[in-house]
Amino acid sequence: MVNSLNQLNNPMIKHERYFEVMRDFRKGGFNPDMYDEFLTLVNQLPNIALRTPDDFKIFDKFNLTEVTRADFEVIVKEVNRRAIEKSKFCWHPSASNTTCNIDSTGNIIVSAAHSIQNNGVLSQIVENGLVTTYAINKGEFDSKELHKNHASIFWGFCNTHDAIFKPIETNSYTGTDEQNFLFAYRGFVVSTHKKVEMSDLMDYGVQSENDIKQNKKIFDDAILASNYSILETEVFELPAFYPIAVSSAFYLDFDFEKNPIPHSDDRMEDIFVTLLPFQNKTYFLLSYFKQDKHLYGNLGKQLRGRNKLKSDITMLIAAHTENVYFNPTYYNTFIKKHEENLNRIIFETQMDYVNIDEDNNQTINFSFTPNDYLNNPLDINFFGY
Ligand SMILES: [Zn+2]
Repeated sequence: MVNSLNQLNNPMIKHERYFEVMRDFRKGGFNPDMYDEFLTLVNQLPNIALRTPDDFKIFDKFNLTEVTRADFEVIVKEVNRRAIEKSKFCWHPSASNTTCNIDSTGNIIVSAAHSIQNNGVLSQIVENGLVTTYAINKGEFDSKELHKNHASIFWGFCNTHDAIFKPIETNSYTGTDEQNFLFAYRGFVVSTHKKVEMSDLMDYGVQSENDIKQNKKIFDDAILASNYSILETEVFELPAFYPIAVSSAFYLDFDFEKNPIPHSDDRMEDIFVTLLPFQNKTYFLLSYFKQDKHLYGNLGKQLRGRNKLKSDITMLIAAHTENVYFNPTYYNTFIKKHEENLNRIIFETQMDYVNIDEDNNQTINFSFTPNDYLNNPLDINFFGY
């Protein structure tokens, strides 16, 4: 059995996205002439748990060939590019062809929005126009420098509606409800937009789609009513300038005292985090919906009471988000040495495992997240002085 057919045995991969690109690029023996018949045969395979290697003999007639590692990388890149392209839309609750910025044919023009202020924050941490960020690529830790104009962008607003962020783009941070709301909202949108893009090629299930819909609705209703008090925001101040910027949203399974945080099935409750240096200080904003206070209300208290603020903020960021930007020299001096441990903590906290039953249902879901990871057992530190 050729390697490209392995895609069919992973229930989370939307294999058609890969096979389409292979067809268009004429890789691995795929081409438009055989493609429809190939998909018909895919549907005739037994469910994953019941399959044997013999079942794949139905594909022998196509003379499929092995895909090289280099070709696979090209295919993955194109699959990702198409997913991003398909997922461009304006997140604003009033978005429509009559209110958004449109082109001459009436289509909404989605622009590259910054998830972190380009001129307010990124310009304070750049060096020769560059910032450093990192991500896990194909299972490996990968840090890279990129131009600040390309850093932290996502395709989630038209120009008209991107103006909603004006109070945090052009004004200094003074901690108004509106500013705290907008920082949290942007963290939500940038993180969720990434999930929407990924869901074009991965099947995260109905639950994930519902989580996005429910959380978006809470933000949308608040924006339409200009009601910025739906969020609780805890503001922490580090008394030094650290050239690090973060904007993100995620959920926690455990708090700082190893207590499990029980999420509901109706909506995954997120927290929203922002780290922003300003003059001789660095602000860390931790927000959550007031209606989720029963889950996250203790977090702020714990952060204040533990007297380990640098370690605690480091772990919240390190374990849960890749939308992090550093000054390049600062990164090389203080962060690079933690790369191996960063890789480990990201793997432990972000990988979940799924089993599937004979009916192709995803059943047992287990995670490697240790309940004490927020105590920073690997001693990672983002704040070098
Ligand atoms: Zn719009």
